[in-house]
Amino acid sequence: MQAALEAARGPGADVPIGAVVFGPDGRPLAAARNARVELGDPTAHAEILALRAAARVHGDGWRLEGCTLAVTLEPCTMCAGALVLARISRLVFGAWEPKTGAVSSLWDVVRDRRLNHRPEVHGGILAQECAGLLENYFATRRAQLS
Ligand SMILES: [Zn+2]
Repeated sequence: MQAALEAARGPGADVPIGAVVFGPDGRPLAAARNARVELGDPTAHAEILALRAAARVHGDGWRLEGCTLAVTLEPCTMCAGALVLARISRLVFGAWEPKTGAVSSLWDVVRDRRLNHRPEVHGGILAQECAGLLENYFATRRAQLS
């Protein structure tokens, strides 16, 4: 989670959300920061960018079996779906996202019993630190607008 926080703190004007994919041996394969505005891409969430980069360097081309995805915020429906499709074995996330969270807040996409792949989930890891990063970002934005 420290590595995901580090990715979130990286350069960029987008909402600071960071994600890292670790290989089965615990070695980081790819890290990314949310870049929706920067890339002009509604799907450029940190998780998606990290999954794409990890799949380029690991696995059979797209499966990330045995890998762990760490992200600073509870994934949305798109990212939850993507990590299931990527066969991520373990999901670790920081802050809860009551407005869009799809790993128990609004839905629980990754543990739906109808899916044939369900990752192990650990939520709320360093939650305060992860949430603090977002709160500071939005407080600064509000101050700039007023
Ligand atoms: Zn997402």
